[in-house]
Amino acid sequence: MAPSFRVEVDQSIVSHLSYSTIDGGGRRDTVGYLAGVPRPRLSAATVVAGLALTLTVGLTVGWVGGADAGPAADRTSPSSRPAGSAGIGDPYFPHDGNGGIDVVSYDVHDRYGFQRRRLSGWTELRIRGTAEISRFNLDLLLPVRGVRVDGHAVRFSHRGHELTIRRGLHRGEVVTVLVRYAGEPSRYSYAGESNWLASADEVVSMNQPHMAPWWFPANDHPLDKARIRVSITVPQQYDVVSNGRRLHRKAHGSWATTTWRADEPMVPYLAFFAAGHFQIDHGVSDGRRWLVAVSQALPTATRPEAMRLLRETPIITRWLETQLGDYPFSTVGGLVTSLDAGFALENQTRPTYAPGGVNRTTLVHELAHQWFGDSVAVHHWSDIWLNEGAATFMEWRYDETHGGTTAARMLRESYDGADADDALWDGRVASPCPSHRSCVDRIFADFVYQRGAMTLQALRQRIGGADFARLLRRWLVEREGGNGSTAQFESLAEKVSGEDLGGFFAAWLHSSSKPADTAANGLG
Ligand SMILES: [Zn+2]
Repeated sequence: MAPSFRVEVDQSIVSHLSYSTIDGGGRRDTVGYLAGVPRPRLSAATVVAGLALTLTVGLTVGWVGGADAGPAADRTSPSSRPAGSAGIGDPYFPHDGNGGIDVVSYDVHDRYGFQRRRLSGWTELRIRGTAEISRFNLDLLLPVRGVRVDGHAVRFSHRGHELTIRRGLHRGEVVTVLVRYAGEPSRYSYAGESNWLASADEVVSMNQPHMAPWWFPANDHPLDKARIRVSITVPQQYDVVSNGRRLHRKAHGSWATTTWRADEPMVPYLAFFAAGHFQIDHGVSDGRRWLVAVSQALPTATRPEAMRLLRETPIITRWLETQLGDYPFSTVGGLVTSLDAGFALENQTRPTYAPGGVNRTTLVHELAHQWFGDSVAVHHWSDIWLNEGAATFMEWRYDETHGGTTAARMLRESYDGADADDALWDGRVASPCPSHRSCVDRIFADFVYQRGAMTLQALRQRIGGADFARLLRRWLVEREGGNGSTAQFESLAEKVSGEDLGGFFAAWLHSSSKPADTAANGLG
């Protein structure tokens, strides 16, 4: 995620808002910034409040199966088995994901009406049991109309974000779960987020760390990647763009259904769709399909520049491959929405940029996330610096290889420019939330990005450029398509360099004070 602009709001107001995202940034304003121009680091702590003003919180939205919830199918679930847990075990978001299941694939079929901003549909999930459980959960905010498992209606309950399906699973058993749902996504909030970005004629589902529960039922955590196919039905005058490749578009009456499929598994929040009027361009570069889209609701004067920048996507991807190894996916692209998201997001294979926020630096950032964040996802959300620090570091690296400021100078200026009491040091990079509570504002705070990037450049200076390059490549190859934690990254860095880096990482990642200006801290 990269902020593209920010709005300062009174904290007393924030507590009464539901915001689509918060960025404790002040890090920088990427609007209009081009590669090669040094950026001063700003230190003010500001908050981006998003868009929707709704007091809705995760209320109970239903209980017991609706019309379709027929006879109980609990015959395979002896009461002696434990229930699958309502969370996958992330300390920051205890209800994210679920225990006892592994989603193999999602087949999403949603219909969206722009006038009433209402979404209805069904999703078919292939789910594998990972434990002997008496029931299991999925994460969904929209009201549920019915649940079927292997074609049989089953009982369910739905409270806020947790859909509990009362059907047992054996370890290794694979079932097909069909969930039908309908509602107005903008009415629902979870973990302080109210994620529905829509106007009268454009909609885009983009957010982090959560987005799926507003439009499809998911095991919503980076630890469960799955294949996904997205079919979106809208009035036929609208275009639909999503991840991966467009398979087909079928018109029926005044509506049309467009189906997209990503070839590689992805984390649920990285799935997205956008519907509206888009100028679309596509082609093949380096043997890889690319597709980019620019909203036609943007001012006429800005559209050509947005399209020109998006067409650089294959070129920037090729440069990233020289740094990081092969691009991890089979398609690439991007989309510029007219909706004021306030940030850009690294949706897998197709990052989405907000108006005014599309520039070369943001492209580098979001495309670097295809490796750091998408291919190698965080283990827990506390590891977010591995995504944001690396994507920010790649901005620096891009600059220094394109005639701009060196990353060494960026590190030195950032270090010298922040006094010991600066907000840059006020937090632990590898555990940004002060308590194990939902903390969307802290995981996307300025210091996670900036000190994360500084940590990587300092590490490069500490262990040398050759070992550093080997470290990044090994990290990305060994964990491709999976997850990685801070501890695992630290361990690999010590393995690759042959050095004891305990003191280095303690100073940069696990301390809330300014690291000493020493060679051991990579500052010599
Ligand atoms: Zn980012």
